[in-house]
Amino acid sequence: MTIESSAQAAYLVAALFFILALAALSKHETAKAGNNFGIAGMTIALIATIALAVDRGIDAIGLILLGVAMVVGGVIGLWRARVVEMTGMPELIAILHSFVGLAAVLVGWNGYLQVEGGGDSAEVMHLISQGTLGIHHAEVFIGVFIGAVTFTGSIVAFGKLSGWMKSNPLMLTGKNFINVGALVIFVALTIWFCISPTLWLLIAVTIVALALGWYLVASIGGGDMPVVVSMLNSYSGWAAAASGFLLENDLLIVTGALVGSSGAYLSFIMCRAMNRSFISVIAGGFGIEAGPSQDTDYGDHREVSAKEVAELLHSAKSVIITPGYGMAVAQAQYGVAELTRKLRESGTTVRFGIHPVAGRLPGHMNVLLAEAKVPYDIVLEMDEINSDFVDTDVVLVIGANDTVNPGAESDPNSPIAGMPVLRVWNANDVIVFKRSMASGYAGVQNPLFFRENSAMLFGDAKDRVQDIIRAF
Ligand code: NDP
Repeated sequence: MTIESSAQAAYLVAALFFILALAALSKHETAKAGNNFGIAGMTIALIATIALAVDRGIDAIGLILLGVAMVVGGVIGLWRARVVEMTGMPELIAILHSFVGLAAVLVGWNGYLQVEGGGDSAEVMHLISQGTLGIHHAEVFIGVFIGAVTFTGSIVAFGKLSGWMKSNPLMLTGKNFINVGALVIFVALTIWFCISPTLWLLIAVTIVALALGWYLVASIGGGDMPVVVSMLNSYSGWAAAASGFLLENDLLIVTGALVGSSGAYLSFIMCRAMNRSFISVIAGGFGIEAGPSQDTDYGDHREVSAKEVAELLHSAKSVIITPGYGMAVAQAQYGVAELTRKLRESGTTVRFGIHPVAGRLPGHMNVLLAEAKVPYDIVLEMDEINSDFVDTDVVLVIGANDTVNPGAESDPNSPIAGMPVLRVWNANDVIVFKRSMASGYAGVQNPLFFRENSAMLFGDAKDRVQDIIRAF
């Protein structure tokens, strides 16, 4: 068996590990095993790729550069993964997507310089003899386009998620014209490049794609960012697959397609959860016509103390906890788990209602609650629990805001209009844990806070939960 065929067999095994990883990551119970499958697949892929490079005659400098890149990348990756806060995961994911996009652009440009630019005449002759030179032109062009859109789109997503860019949507007039125009330009340039592969066309598509990626994500408002993150995940997969075609690397094609299609499916699920149209997400800038209804006077809010909440909980028979981003910021999940234990020991039915986009990444709340050892069977999805609020004595809204905003149902002008929300206001009493009257991620005021059956428990969620446990 030659190194070449062994490497191809190893790629197949690695691809199987990646599929197993995806399958296992979809359930709490098997998520850790899923990570291990992914690590195993990637280790096999790396070893096979290095063996292949050596077999194909990589020189000493190339080998040293490869080693240096792996060590530097590995150290940075390990360090970031160890220090990143759970709340910082979405921006880390976004910046990692930007690397995939940039890599696809560089691979595309390298492909051009080698073949269309005439750098490697043997490769050109090989492609001509195979009759695939035209396909190579298209691979270069499409790969650079997808990569560049992913690159700048991910940088803007990183900026919005980490807070150095405003999360408001960029409002340009004629957004549909810009979207369609950019796509028409891309198709026209691709045809032109396939007929006559000149450098300026590649420069033009790179600039158009960089601008389009920036614009697409900039025009999406804060509340819709979850879909953007999963959409960029998908784009990064297609960018990797495009590089796989150029590099004639089957594993990269398979892995890219897996990431691309699973990301697209996740976007689809998120769109359904947020009641958004999948097509308009792909086109960018959906839901921006509505202006925020900030000036509305909702009246006064009521405040309660931790002691009063403890008394309320003492007499409650059924309690639902709806956690949100604030629980992650405060790291209140351990206190929440302890309070849940105490309430259940005293005979109260306690369940959790999880909104699909609560927190800052898909499954964020589930991960935190699992970490704090809250039993899985009392953690329910929004659709499973939404009709039960009517029969519930007390709802504890712990650091959630947009996901419990009744304005999404009642205010057609709200930027989150149409997004399904947890109907917490149907319960007898609603206690909202937050530090101020500030709005949530989407930047909209929440009329829930001013309802008669709602009361605010101000302060850091972790401290307030501990106060309640003490008073209880
Ligand atoms: P929100 O982001 O709407 O609100 C969180 C609330 O937590 C804030 O109002 C804040 O109020 C409060 N808070 C922050 N820190 C603390 C603390 N230490 N103690 C107590 N409260 C605190 O949260 P939701 O989870 O309800 O909604 C998620 C939002 O994020 C949605 O708009 C969603 O679209 C978006 N998003 C979701 C992603 C995902 O994949 N899940 C990805 C990107 C965005 P205050 O400052 O007054 O304390």
